[in-house]
Amino acid sequence: MSNKLISSVREEDTISRLGGDEFTIIIEGTNENEIIRLTEKIISLMQNKTRINDNEMFVTFSIGISRYPQDGDSPEELLRNADTAMYQAKDNGKNQYQFYNKEMTKKAIQRSQMELDLRKALEEGELEAYFQPKVDAKNHVVVGMEALVRWNHPQKGLIQPNDFISIAEETGLIIPLDMWMMENTMKIMQQWHKEGLNTGRLSLNLSIKQLESKGCIERFKKVIEDTGVDANYLELEITEGQIMQDSEHSITVLQEIRDLGVHVSIDDFGTGYSSLSYLKRLPIDTLKIDRSFINDLPDDEEDSAIVKAIVVLANSLKLELIAEGVETQEQQEYLVSEGCSNIQGYYYSKPLEREEYKEFLLKYQ
Ligand code: C2E
Ligand code: CA
Ligand code: CA
Repeated sequence: MSNKLISSVREEDTISRLGGDEFTIIIEGTNENEIIRLTEKIISLMQNKTRINDNEMFVTFSIGISRYPQDGDSPEELLRNADTAMYQAKDNGKNQYQFYNKEMTKKAIQRSQMELDLRKALEEGELEAYFQPKVDAKNHVVVGMEALVRWNHPQKGLIQPNDFISIAEETGLIIPLDMWMMENTMKIMQQWHKEGLNTGRLSLNLSIKQLESKGCIERFKKVIEDTGVDANYLELEITEGQIMQDSEHSITVLQEIRDLGVHVSIDDFGTGYSSLSYLKRLPIDTLKIDRSFINDLPDDEEDSAIVKAIVVLANSLKLELIAEGVETQEQQEYLVSEGCSNIQGYYYSKPLEREEYKEFLLKYQ
């Protein structure tokens, strides 16, 4: 059992046997999701039969979790509360874990349920792509569309990405999810082109996890080949914050993406602290001004100053510019007058499902 436990934790974690059948694991510098993942891993590992000499042993495992400092600030108190939680787990039927804080347990269970559901959603086609237009406000033409994922949950109804993208990121499900979006929306765009519609460029949100994963460029190439879409019609949006996490590697991969002919846009621009010298080296085409700077335009002086500065920056780095989250005519007019004429936001349209979006496009042809 000790060996099994040791094999399931990180090098820097501490495992001790308190006596009898009780072990303690001390994990530093972690977060609740990592804890959940680890406890689930241990429980499933322990559920496998264990062979000792010629005997097969079945073992059940109950885990109680206490956290510093929320659940105690001395070793004694933390151990005692973990013990209390562990007895709760046993009472609930073993092979379980419990946090000392009941709310945590509830959240943890919801999260793992969500993960299972999301896996199923991917397999059973419960995801759907919505589209939101990008409009050149000066010339009144649609210059592109952003694809945004939605989840038609069979029980819970329509779920917005903010409620599942972070789980998808943490579990790695974001990679198949984004590939599904890419393939599916490219097919839709191809169909619209066949029908003679002018769509402009298709923008897809991409998690940095995708860029960091092996074979990512090959996967993109394959989808582009399979769908027959001209790569110039594609744009990938990556948030400034995510690019900053992994700058050197990102530069290499982004360059390869651009070599395919695909455009690259920095999403949520202005929130991620990238330096000017770094920005200059990034292989990108577009800056997308974050919604938070648009909300209070044109009255908020600081936000106007930031927007003006971004316009100057984009011009001097010869980058395209777009503003997101534009809701009012005032905001739109202000942005155009300041030199940012590409607009995305509720002012033109909310994200729409396929058929509705086609209706929207038809009006703009
Ligand atoms: P984002 O990429 O910044 O997308 C813009 C979000 O702002 C969308 O939310 C959109 O519906 C919303 N929005 C657009 N115009 C307005 C407006 O005028 N006012 C306001 N208040 N909101 C506006 P949504 O669709 O809920 O997506 C949230 C986030 O989830 C996205 O933020 C993106 O980071 C992520 N996401 C969505 N779809 C995907 C996907 O397929 N893959 C990945 N990796 N992430 C996705
Ligand atoms: Ca985006
Ligand atoms: Ca954004």
